[in-house]
Amino acid sequence: MSEPIKTLCPYCGVGCGLEVMPPAQTGKATSRDSEGNPMWQVRGDRDHPSSKGKVCIKGGTVAESLNKDRLKYPMMRDSLNQEFRRVSWDEALETIVHRIEEVKATQGVDGICMYGSGQFQTEDYYIAQKLLKGCLGTNNFDANSRLCMSSAVAGYIQSFGSDGPPACYDDLEETDCAFLIGTNTAECHPIVFNRLRMHHKKNRSVKMIVVDPRKTQTAEAADLHLAIKPGTDIDLLNGIAHLLMKWGELDPLYIDECTADFTKYAEIIQHYPPEIVAGRCGIDLNHLEQAARYWAESENVLSMWSMGVNQSSEGTAKVRTIINLHLMTGNIGKPGAGPFSLTGQPNAMGGREAGGLAHILPGYRVVKNPSHRAEVEQLWKLPSDSISPIPGRDAWSMITGLETGDVGLLWIAATNPAVSMPDLVRTKKALLKSPFTIYQDAYYPTETAAYAHLLLPAAQWGEKTGIMTNSERVVTLCSQFRQPPGQAKPDWEIFAEVGRRLGFTKEFAFASSAAVYQEFVQLTKSRPCDMSGLTHGRLRQQGAIQWPCPLEEVTDINSFALQCPTGGNISQNKKESGLFSSLLGNNKTEPPKAKRLYTNGTFNTADGRAKFAAFHSKGLAEPIDNEYPFVLTIGRLYEHWHTMTRTGRIPKIMKRQPKPFMEIHPKDAQRLGIEEEQMIEIQSRRGLGRFPAKITKAIATGTVFIPMHWGALWGENTEANVLTHPEACPISLEPELKACAVKLIPMGLE
Ligand code: SF4
Repeated sequence: MSEPIKTLCPYCGVGCGLEVMPPAQTGKATSRDSEGNPMWQVRGDRDHPSSKGKVCIKGGTVAESLNKDRLKYPMMRDSLNQEFRRVSWDEALETIVHRIEEVKATQGVDGICMYGSGQFQTEDYYIAQKLLKGCLGTNNFDANSRLCMSSAVAGYIQSFGSDGPPACYDDLEETDCAFLIGTNTAECHPIVFNRLRMHHKKNRSVKMIVVDPRKTQTAEAADLHLAIKPGTDIDLLNGIAHLLMKWGELDPLYIDECTADFTKYAEIIQHYPPEIVAGRCGIDLNHLEQAARYWAESENVLSMWSMGVNQSSEGTAKVRTIINLHLMTGNIGKPGAGPFSLTGQPNAMGGREAGGLAHILPGYRVVKNPSHRAEVEQLWKLPSDSISPIPGRDAWSMITGLETGDVGLLWIAATNPAVSMPDLVRTKKALLKSPFTIYQDAYYPTETAAYAHLLLPAAQWGEKTGIMTNSERVVTLCSQFRQPPGQAKPDWEIFAEVGRRLGFTKEFAFASSAAVYQEFVQLTKSRPCDMSGLTHGRLRQQGAIQWPCPLEEVTDINSFALQCPTGGNISQNKKESGLFSSLLGNNKTEPPKAKRLYTNGTFNTADGRAKFAAFHSKGLAEPIDNEYPFVLTIGRLYEHWHTMTRTGRIPKIMKRQPKPFMEIHPKDAQRLGIEEEQMIEIQSRRGLGRFPAKITKAIATGTVFIPMHWGALWGENTEANVLTHPEACPISLEPELKACAVKLIPMGLE
C-alpha cells in the first residue's frame, strides 16, 4: 500500500492538513459517492502542525463533491439569453485575447478587471498579478478576500507597518485569556475552537470572553458573553481601555519602548467612562468591568476576530482598536498573546503574500510605493513604470464600473459573486450590463455562471499541485492526486496561456507550478513575509512550514537582529533593558521562533514602533428607524461553506442543513405574532427575502439573523445578500455585510 498523499483542506482559513488515499487502497469495499463514483478517502494528517489530525465535517466530506456537476469544457455564447455551446480551448483563449486587445484599444487597459478568490493556490494568485499588474499594467485585480479580511490587512499595516498576523495556534494552548470578538469560531473555524476549548476546559484559571450580539455556540462556551448592540464594538473596546488605564493595568515599559502616539490615544480614551459605554453597548456595567478585569488579571491575552469585526463600515478602526489593547498591555510577541485575525478562506493569506488585492503587490508591497513597484518590475524584467501607481478597482467598484460602462471585460474566477456580493439586486443588474464576462470555475451550474459569456473549466482541490498558507502563516504543499475532469486546467495555467498569447512568452514560460513558486518566493526575500527558503521540494520533504522562512537560517541572536523577520534591528537599549529576555529565553544564542512576529518589540514602521490610534464609533452605516426597525445580521453555519458550490453538492451536509432560516428572539416573535417555522418576509431598502422563523433566545431582541449561504439556485427569495448594503470601510473598502436595517412581515402559516 502506497503512502497517503498529503494536502490541505480547501475550505476555511484554519488550514487543516489532510491525507488522501484512493478507494482501492483502504482494504475495505470500494466506497462510492452518491453518484456511484469511487470515492477518495480523506482523513486528518496527524503530522500537520496546525490541526494535528483533526478535521471537521467539511474537511471530512470534501472528496464527495469532486465528481459532482463539474464544468469539463470551455463553453461560450454571444449573449446572455442564448444557450452555451462547447468550444475548444484554442477558440476560448483567442476570444479572450481578442477581447482584451479590444478593450485596451477602446477603453484603455483599466477597462479590464479580474475578480479572484481565496480558493486560489498561491501560484494562481501570483500569475494573475503578473498578468494584470505587470504585463497589462492595470491593478484591477481584486479577490473575494475583500469581503472577508481586508480590514484586518489595513489594520495590521496601519498599526504595525505591514500585514501579517503576529500570533499562532500554539497560543490557543498558552493563553490565560481568550478574547473573541465578532467571530463564531466554534462554527466557522471549528478546529481552532476545539484546541482553545480543550485548553479552556483543562485549565480553570483560563478565561474566555466572547463579544457577539448572538449567543452562538462559541458564546455558550465562554465565561463571559457580552451581547453588545450591533455596531458598538469600538465603544466596548475603548471602555475596556478606559478601565485598564484607570486601574493602572498597563505595561508602561512596552508602551515607552515599542509604541508611538500613546498620549493622544490616552486623552481620547478618557471620554469612555464605563457607565456610558455599558449603556451604549446595551450590556451590564458589571459585565464590562468583568471583561476589563479578565484582561488586567491575565498574563497573556489572545484576541481573535473574523467577519464580525472586518465586515464593517469602520472595520479598520475596529481592528486598530483591538490592537490598541494589546499594545497598552504588552500583549504581543509572546506566548499566548497577540491580536489574531482568523482568515476565512484556505489561502486568503497566500493571496495577501502574492499581492492579490487591488492595492498591493507580491511580498507585502503596496502599489503606491515607487520602490515597491520598481522592485517587482525588476524581478519581472519589465520596463520601469509598467506597474501603475494607482490602486485598482476593489470588488464593489468592479460592479459599479459595470453600471457606468467603465468595465469592458470582467474575468471572475473561483468565486460566486451572484451570491456573495452585497445588494444582490443591484449586483445582478450590473452583471447583466457586462459587455463580456469570463467565468472560470470547477462547477456548473452556479449562480454567477448565469451572467457569463464564456465559461472556463478549472481544476480544483486534488487536481493540481500548489501552495496554500493558513491563518497562522503555515505554508502547506497541496499535492495533486487525480486528473482534472474533461479539459479542466489549473487556474495559473489558464492565466499564463493568455499571457503568452498576448505576447509575453518569456514572462510566462513556466514548466510547472513549482517553477512559479520559485519565482514568487524571490519577491518575498527580506520582506516581512520572507519565505525565500521554501520550495515545493522542501515542503514535500519536510511537511508544512511557517513563515518567516528566509533562505539562510539564522543561527544567533545578533544575526537575527540583522535579518529580523520584522525587518528591523533590536535596539541596544531594548536588549540591555532586559525587557525582551523573558521573551527570548535565557539562551541568547537562540533566535526567537518564527511562529510569533514582533517578539523583539520592533515593528515594520519607519521608526520601528507600533502606532496607537483612537477612534470614536460612527455606529452602523444603516441604523434602524421606524420604517426598518430591526437589525439584520448574517453569518455562516458549521456545515456549509460560502455559497455552497461544494457543500450544496454533498448529501450528508445538505441533510443536516437543508434550508435557510431566520432567528428571532421570543419577545419579538410574540410582539409580532410570529410562530415557529412561520414564513417571514424580510424587507430592506434594497430587496426582500422569505425565511421560516426560528424562535430562539440566542439572538438579542431587535436583531434577526439569517445564514448567508443560499443563492438563487436554491429557490426564490432565499438570498441573504439581497438585503445587505455595500457601504464600506473607507480604508479597507470592505462592505458592511454584517448589518443592515430591515422590517419583518409575517406571512400566512404554511
Ligand atoms: Fe477544513 Fe476548516 Fe474544517 Fe479544518 S476547520 S477541516 S480547514 S473546514
